[in-house]
Amino acid sequence: MKNVKLGNTNIDVSRLCFGSLTISPLQRNFSYKEGAKLIRYAFDRGINFLDTAELYDNYGHINLFLKDIDRKDFVIATKSYSYSKETAENSLMKALNELGTDYIDLFLLHEQESEHTIKGHYEAIEYFIKAKEKGIIRSIGISTHRVEGVLAAAKYNEIEVVHPIINKIGIGIQDGDSNDMINAIKKCHALGKGIYGMKPLGGGHLLKNVEEAFNYVQDIKEIHSIAIGMQSHLEVDANVNLIEKRTINKDIEKKLRKSNRKLHIADWCVGCGRCQEICRHNAIKIVNGKAQVDKNKCVLCGYCGRYCNEFCIKII
Ligand code: SF4
Ligand code: SF4
Repeated sequence: MKNVKLGNTNIDVSRLCFGSLTISPLQRNFSYKEGAKLIRYAFDRGINFLDTAELYDNYGHINLFLKDIDRKDFVIATKSYSYSKETAENSLMKALNELGTDYIDLFLLHEQESEHTIKGHYEAIEYFIKAKEKGIIRSIGISTHRVEGVLAAAKYNEIEVVHPIINKIGIGIQDGDSNDMINAIKKCHALGKGIYGMKPLGGGHLLKNVEEAFNYVQDIKEIHSIAIGMQSHLEVDANVNLIEKRTINKDIEKKLRKSNRKLHIADWCVGCGRCQEICRHNAIKIVNGKAQVDKNKCVLCGYCGRYCNEFCIKII
């Protein structure tokens, strides 16, 4: 698979990025061994770039995979909600220790909404800049579901990489549509920032026409790489084909549709409302004392599951 330079960073990444939320306890809950095997399969098919997060709780899977390869052949992006020197240091140390590596390629601040949010997290950015000077981080970035977040990143030279949500129907973009997001992405790209998009299939909403949805994002030339969740050989192969040949076999497309993930809320939900508060997509409501998901709004990010003390939420 073709590698590209991620903006003005000196990092070369494959056009496809392995979205690892799928293998984490928030989704398929693979064992370390199963997770490491799938990442290895993707690596052997040319994917040298993986996106994770402290929230995903899957550093152990990646650690196991890294043991079998030359570290410099693989690019890891992780993210955390750090906002201070102390929280940034904790997040970086946790990532280094649990991944079993002595550097992180891309360290992102997770879910930055606007310039205001970035300012509120700036102490963490300052810590990451120092870590970068020491060679512990290669590049600093943000992830965001908001056009405003992308536009804010354009104002900071120290933010070198942006990881925005982008898909054909704009699902999950919290403050605009796909065109607004593309315009913001263009602005960052013109400044030399690396861009890797997320959720090209809108969290499964675009599985009816995978080819069209995927190629829509692939055709945005300002996007260097596309992160997509993968949880089987079938999904890895289908995504590699889409990147390399822009097509998907119709039987595989059917199988993907059948294996489409759904958010499941167990009936022992106590209606505490924590998931409703955490969902940035307004996809959960408490109805008659139980959480209910609006499938048209849910992008299957899985974040609500992390906050349910009753362990009711699973994406299966
Ligand atoms: S957080 Fe869990 S228990 Fe609370 S409302 Fe949501 S699903 Fe139910
Ligand atoms: S309901 Fe949960 S999985 Fe769906 S968008 Fe909201 S936080 Fe993400």
